[in-house]
Amino acid sequence: MKKGINKMDEKVGKVLISKEQIEKRVKELAKQISQDYEGKDLVCVIILRGAFMFVTDLAKEISIPAKFDFMATSSYGDSTTSSGVVRIYKDLDMNIEGKDVLIIEDIVDTGRTISYLVKNLKTRNPKSLEVCTLINKPANRVVNVKIKYVGFVIPPEFVIGYGLDFAEDYRHITEVRVFKED
Ligand code: IMP
Repeated sequence: MKKGINKMDEKVGKVLISKEQIEKRVKELAKQISQDYEGKDLVCVIILRGAFMFVTDLAKEISIPAKFDFMATSSYGDSTTSSGVVRIYKDLDMNIEGKDVLIIEDIVDTGRTISYLVKNLKTRNPKSLEVCTLINKPANRVVNVKIKYVGFVIPPEFVIGYGLDFAEDYRHITEVRVFKED
C-alpha cells in the first residue's frame, strides 16, 4: 500500500488494539483515576511524545480537578529495542513538591524509562507518585516497576499508532498496530 494520509505502508501490520477497545478502556481508566484522586492535588506528568494521544482522550474523561505538565525523554530512535540509556530532553515546568503525581506513559517495555523517571521525580518530594501506562509489555522487563494503572497488556511485539512511533512515523494511526520490520 502507498504511504500518505490515511494510507498504510507495508510495515504497518495487523490491528492489536482497536479504536473501540481504546475508547472503552480509556474511559474506564479515567473513571478509576477520578475516583482514586477525588479530593487530592492531582498533577499528571505526561511523557512525550508517545503519550500525547492517550492523554488527550484520558484528560477529557477525568472528572476531578487536575493539572497537566509534560516531560520529554529519549525514545528508541530508529531502533525497535531499548538502548538502556534514558535522557530527559524537556523537564517539568511545575513544582511537584507535595502534589499527588501520576505519570502518564505510552508503553512500558524493559521498564528502564519509567524506573528512571520514578527515581528522578521522587527526589522532588511529591506527596504520592504512581504510574499509568496505556500499554504494558511485561515479557521484556529488565527493571521491576510498580504500575498502578494499565490500559492493555500485550505480547513482546513492537507496536505503532495511537501516539506510538517507529523513527517518529506512524504516531497518527488511530489504533495500535504491529510494526513489521524488514
Ligand atoms: P522501556 O524503557 O524499555 O520501558 O521503554 C519505554 C519507551 O520505549 C516507551 O516510552 C516508548 O517510547 C518506547 N517503546 C517501547 N516499546 C515500544 C513499542 O512497541 N512501540 C513504540 N515505542 C516503544
